[in-house]
Amino acid sequence: MPNSHPVARLTRAVIHTDRLAHNMRLLQDIVGARSLWPCIKANAYGHADEIIARELLRLGYDTFGVADVCEAVALIEEGIEATFIVLSNTLPEHAEALVAHGCEPIVCTPDTVRALARAADKLGRRVAVHVNVDTGMGRIGIAPAEVGAFLDYCKSYPSIEIRGIMSHFARADEADKRDALGQLARFEEVIEIARSHEIGLRHMANSAAIFDIPGSHFDAARPGISIYGLAPSADIANPRVRDLQPILEWRTRITFLKEAPRGKGLSYGHDFHTERPSLIATIPIGYGDGFSRRLSNDVDVLIGGMRCRQVGRVTMDMSLVDVTPLRGRVSLGDEVVVIGRQGEETITADELAAKLGTINYEIVTRIAERVPRVAISDDD
Ligand SMILES: *Cc1c(COP(=O)(O)O)cnc(C)c1O
Repeated sequence: MPNSHPVARLTRAVIHTDRLAHNMRLLQDIVGARSLWPCIKANAYGHADEIIARELLRLGYDTFGVADVCEAVALIEEGIEATFIVLSNTLPEHAEALVAHGCEPIVCTPDTVRALARAADKLGRRVAVHVNVDTGMGRIGIAPAEVGAFLDYCKSYPSIEIRGIMSHFARADEADKRDALGQLARFEEVIEIARSHEIGLRHMANSAAIFDIPGSHFDAARPGISIYGLAPSADIANPRVRDLQPILEWRTRITFLKEAPRGKGLSYGHDFHTERPSLIATIPIGYGDGFSRRLSNDVDVLIGGMRCRQVGRVTMDMSLVDVTPLRGRVSLGDEVVVIGRQGEETITADELAAKLGTINYEIVTRIAERVPRVAISDDD
C-alpha cells in the first residue's frame, strides 16, 4: 500500500495555468490569425510538460515543439493527443519511432530523410517533415544554396510530405536587429527560390521575433519562453513584453529555526559568520532541487512579505536564511518564496539569472525533477 500515507514535498513549483492562458492570448493577439506552435521541450522549460500540454490543448493549441522523439513519446503515453514537431536534428536510428508515433521532424540531412522514407514505407504511412534552413543561426540546417536540391531529394520519396520550411534566429533578442533582419532577408530569398516546390507552411519566429520582428511571423510562430511569461531578454523593444505574466512560482517552507550568537559559523566551510545575535531559518531547498550552490550568500528569499538574505553555503537539500528582522513574527512551516511574489515583494527568474550570469531560460529549466510541479488557477 505505497500510497496509504501520502506526503507532499515542502519545496514545490506552482504553475499558474490562468497566467498561461493570459500569455497565449497576448501572443495570439500579436500574431493575429497565424498559428502558434508552443515549444514545450525540456519538460516545458522546467514547468512540467504534461501540465502545460493539457492546458494548451484546453486552450485550443494542438501543435507543440519538442526536442526529440523521446519527449514526444513520453507525452503521448500520458495521453496527450497533439502534433509534435521535433526541433532537434536526430540520427537515422530514430526514424522508425518518429514515424510510428506520427511526429513531424525537422530535417536537414539526406540520411535522415532516406531513413524516414524507409520507415514510412515499412509502416505503410507517410511522414510530414519541416525542412530546416540555416539562414545564420549556425547550429543545424541546410545552407540556403542547397534548398532546391534538398527539396527535390525529399520529393523523390512519395512517403515524405513537406509540411513546412523553417529557420531559427540567432540574435532576434538583441536591441540591434541588423543580424536578425539579415537572416529574415535570407529566409525570404529561400522561399522565393523554392516557389516552384511545395514547401508547406513557412515558420521562423521565436518569442523575441514575435515581439520585435513582425515580418517574420509568416504562417506560424514557435513561442517558447514567452508562453511561460518570461521575456526573451531585457532588450525587447515591444512594450507588450511587459504584459507577460510569469506562470511559475518556486515555494518552500521553514523547517527549522534557531537563535545563533554573534560570530557563529554557519553551514559547510563556515564561510559565513553571524555579525550579530541572529535568528536563522532552515529551508528544505538546495542544489539538489536546482537552487544553485553558486547563489550561496548572494540571494534573497521572501518570508512574511520581506526580502531575507540567504546565508552560508547552499547545500544539497537545505539552505539557511537570516530572519532576524522577523523575530517574533516567523514560525515553523511559514511559506518561503524563492521565485515569485509575496505581499508587495517579487523575486524573478531574471534576478537569479543575473546573479548566476545566465538567462531566465536556464533558471526555470534547471529546477530539478524531484521538485513537484503543482498546477493552480486563480480562476478556480
Ligand atoms: C526552443 C525553440 C524555439 C522557442 O524559442 P524561445 O526563445 O523560447 O521563444 C523556437 N524555435 C526553435 C527551433 C527552438 O528550438
